[in-house]
Amino acid sequence: MTVLDKTAAGTAEDAATQAATVEFRGLRREFGPTVALDGLDLTVRPGELLALLGPSGCGKTTALRMLAGFEHPDSGAVLVDGEDVSDIPAHRRDAGMVFQSYSLFPHLSALDNVAFGLRMRKVRTAERRARAAELLELVGLAEKGERYPHQLSGGQQQRIALARALALRPRVLLLDEPLSALDAKVRLTLREEIRRLQRELGITTLFVTHDQEEALSMADRVAVMRSGRLEQCAAPAELYGRPATAFVAEFVGTMSRIPGRIVEGGVEVLGRRLPVDGDVPPVTDVDVLVRPEAVAVRADEASDARVVATAFLGATTRLTVRLADGTEVKADLPAHEGAALGAGAAVSVSLPERPVLVAERRH
Ligand code: ATP
Repeated sequence: MTVLDKTAAGTAEDAATQAATVEFRGLRREFGPTVALDGLDLTVRPGELLALLGPSGCGKTTALRMLAGFEHPDSGAVLVDGEDVSDIPAHRRDAGMVFQSYSLFPHLSALDNVAFGLRMRKVRTAERRARAAELLELVGLAEKGERYPHQLSGGQQQRIALARALALRPRVLLLDEPLSALDAKVRLTLREEIRRLQRELGITTLFVTHDQEEALSMADRVAVMRSGRLEQCAAPAELYGRPATAFVAEFVGTMSRIPGRIVEGGVEVLGRRLPVDGDVPPVTDVDVLVRPEAVAVRADEASDARVVATAFLGATTRLTVRLADGTEVKADLPAHEGAALGAGAAVSVSLPERPVLVAERRH
């Protein structure tokens, strides 16, 4: 057991028993004519990392700010361990928060930044310096305590911000796009580090991001929001493999739309009949949604379909194929197969015998 397990976060057992449950119940918030939250219902389980994902303006930050206590709902409630915290002011919410911009105090050293909240709580000097030092060690910056924010890289500053958020042993950790200001490589390292820390401490964490790869790679569950409501909340693999709606299917990962027709027992698409997964819209003409890895492509001189673009992705090559009716379909092939099919190649496209999602046709 590390020092921090005992002092800054309690024992692992404590962490597991103390981890909070967060519930958003029917949250509604309007800003003038804008409905930011339109009846958001969502539960964050004890100790999980839940990512809020969705297009710009769908209400992610507003939801997070309500949990932090920076916003008040017009109606609905925020519950922590069953207690309605809607009327508790932000400074008494017991939430640690990390923002996109590092927001460290520029005139304080890294150590004093981490110790700041403890000072506000009147923790004795020796104790707060000891705890701040442990947290710096936890985020891998034990040697940088005396540096000022401007003497630290973006990634290091964000680690300090994380240590500062954790110093008060909050019941929930709130992360608002904490990685989006960092360069790609640092972002990847910090993703792993935040995840490791969060697991180690067992702290219930809400993570706002618009980066689907970040959400899928870090979270236990991902909540996809749309226009102030929850569209689907599921583990990453389920969200990707069994999206509940066409919106989720197209927002998470890449999807192509291929025109099809609803027929007895399924949908007719690319010359075959496939079973339908999920809801069937009350129309005959639909679009079938398919992932690039589910599309098979082979050279076929007799076909009217043509490869119009190729993108090398390392292990795979992504082909864009234009069908005779103008529909563009993306298909991932093992790199060596994809390399043999350059732009202009005549190919045929087929789908495996598997249930497919359908959506109303987009004109
Ligand atoms: P982004 O990914 O772009 O940060 P978001 O999903 O976090 O978006 P929110 O910041 O929650 O979205 O905003 C939801 C909607 O509410 C947006 O249309 C936004 O313009 C509006 N909004 C949020 N805060 C305010 C405010 N204080 N005053 C007026 N409108 C606001």
